[in-house]
Amino acid sequence: MNYEKLAELLFPTIDKTPEDYEKIYPPRSLPEGAMVTRLAPSPTGFMHLGNLYGAFVDERLAHQTGGVFFLRIEDTDDKRYVEGAVDVIIQSLDFYGIHFDEGAGKDGDRGDYGDYTQSHRAAIYQAFAKRLVQQGDAYPCFLTEEEISGIREKQEQAKATPGIYGKYASCRDLTFEEIEENLKNGKPYVLRLRSDGLPPEEQQGEGRKILVKDAIRGMLEMPANFMDVVLLKTNGIPTYHFAHVVDDHLMRTTHVVRGAEWLPSLPIHVEIFEKLGLPLPIYCHTAQLMKIDEETGKRRKLSKRKDPELSLTYYRNEGYHPLAVREYLLTILNSNFEEWRTANPDADADEFQFTTEKMSSSGALFDLDKLNDISKDTLLRITAHDLFDFLKKWSDEFAPEYKPYFEDRAYLERILDLGRKDRKPRKDLVYARQIMKFISYFFDDFFEIEDTVPDEVSKEDASEILRRYLETYDHSDDNGVWFEKIRKIASDLGYAAKPKDYKKHPDEYKGHVGHVSTVIRVALMGRRISPDIWEIQQILGEDRTRARLEAFIGQNQ
Ligand code: GLU
Repeated sequence: MNYEKLAELLFPTIDKTPEDYEKIYPPRSLPEGAMVTRLAPSPTGFMHLGNLYGAFVDERLAHQTGGVFFLRIEDTDDKRYVEGAVDVIIQSLDFYGIHFDEGAGKDGDRGDYGDYTQSHRAAIYQAFAKRLVQQGDAYPCFLTEEEISGIREKQEQAKATPGIYGKYASCRDLTFEEIEENLKNGKPYVLRLRSDGLPPEEQQGEGRKILVKDAIRGMLEMPANFMDVVLLKTNGIPTYHFAHVVDDHLMRTTHVVRGAEWLPSLPIHVEIFEKLGLPLPIYCHTAQLMKIDEETGKRRKLSKRKDPELSLTYYRNEGYHPLAVREYLLTILNSNFEEWRTANPDADADEFQFTTEKMSSSGALFDLDKLNDISKDTLLRITAHDLFDFLKKWSDEFAPEYKPYFEDRAYLERILDLGRKDRKPRKDLVYARQIMKFISYFFDDFFEIEDTVPDEVSKEDASEILRRYLETYDHSDDNGVWFEKIRKIASDLGYAAKPKDYKKHPDEYKGHVGHVSTVIRVALMGRRISPDIWEIQQILGEDRTRARLEAFIGQNQ
């Protein structure tokens, strides 16, 4: 077969060669060790935690080394295209401080290695495909769906590996004339790789293996590919396998970070790179995101259907601070991050030296409780001023009902700082939606009596406690004087002034000072548990404090 002639027959209009593209997209001039990474999502409009997780690895590797991080849109499967998806991708990553240096954008491309949208690159893929045909490494395959099903049935009967390869690849040996005839008749065809590999049933011994170094998983040994995979579909658009090879080469990607679901097709990619005579990038196959299933208690993959927390909109909606999510991702990404954080409690997380070697290759366990814990610590590092801005922005977008919270900046900032500046700071604040509820009692329109007074205190005693408290209340009392007054009320009404006395002699008292102060808490905050009462009163102000106590007595008649 004259492959040169076949290539002309299949690609008459393709006049550029791979060498031409090498010149158009020359190697990047970057400092030694600089990494070039990319995020290559399909524009489905759905961004999940796995995308963020991968993007974060890409971003860290590129930006830690003075390299480039770019966005490529993989839209060769047009069924999945959603209008506006590119903007969703950029915006949602931007929120987490992940910025692209080049690539696709809402208003067009940025950078010298584009076009960055695969559907615009048909001519480039075809130039590389043409080269493979010229070399005899790719051929047109006219098998219809029915013929392929027929082959699959035969393979099932023969207990052979399913797929188009070796003797099952009947179009491998078509003559030039047969191909020409088929084209004339308008028969659709795909372009397949002519693999050098042998199927297991034809191999002697172990068969050929390939060795590929993965930056996360170390040296991988896998059976060589033997499938005549599709390179170009009937519409001339490439498959992921082929497009990724051409793109990552021409865009000069040094590190391909992608999910573990791509590991099984790695031998295909290696063979395509080899046949095109191109160097392999360094692969980094990240671990799957797993969680412990609430029902079975077993590890499983996060699922779009079952786990709302897989979607990035979940975190936006709940109002997690982006720094908390970033901090959390670093914790599950790098096993030594937590240790680093303990040693550097106040440092910017970007100072941490992220490495692929410290990434887990077995599943990364995702745990909302852990995220919440990390979030509490992260929020402690954010000033009340910045927290105000963050919460306001969140409320404007996701929960406008909390607008009244933001009318008095100084008031809200004092609330946010409550108990945060202590030596052992309180960790009450987790995420915006939780914070709004947690501090609701500071705002009259949101204040509600949620709890009852403790069982140790009768209804009459509750009113009496509050009456006496109001009588002796002096807003300028310091914390010490204020508490002495509560102790006095407690002992005057038959409650132990110290909890330990009550514990020793429970029969001698109705309860203890803690029960008395809980009555005050319930009247002022509507809850049995809250930060320090005295401090809260200082923030509420004298008028509001007195008004709430009076109102409670009134309702308690
Ligand atoms: N478009 C592929 C995906 O969304 C990208 C895989 C890769 O990063 O190479 O899974």
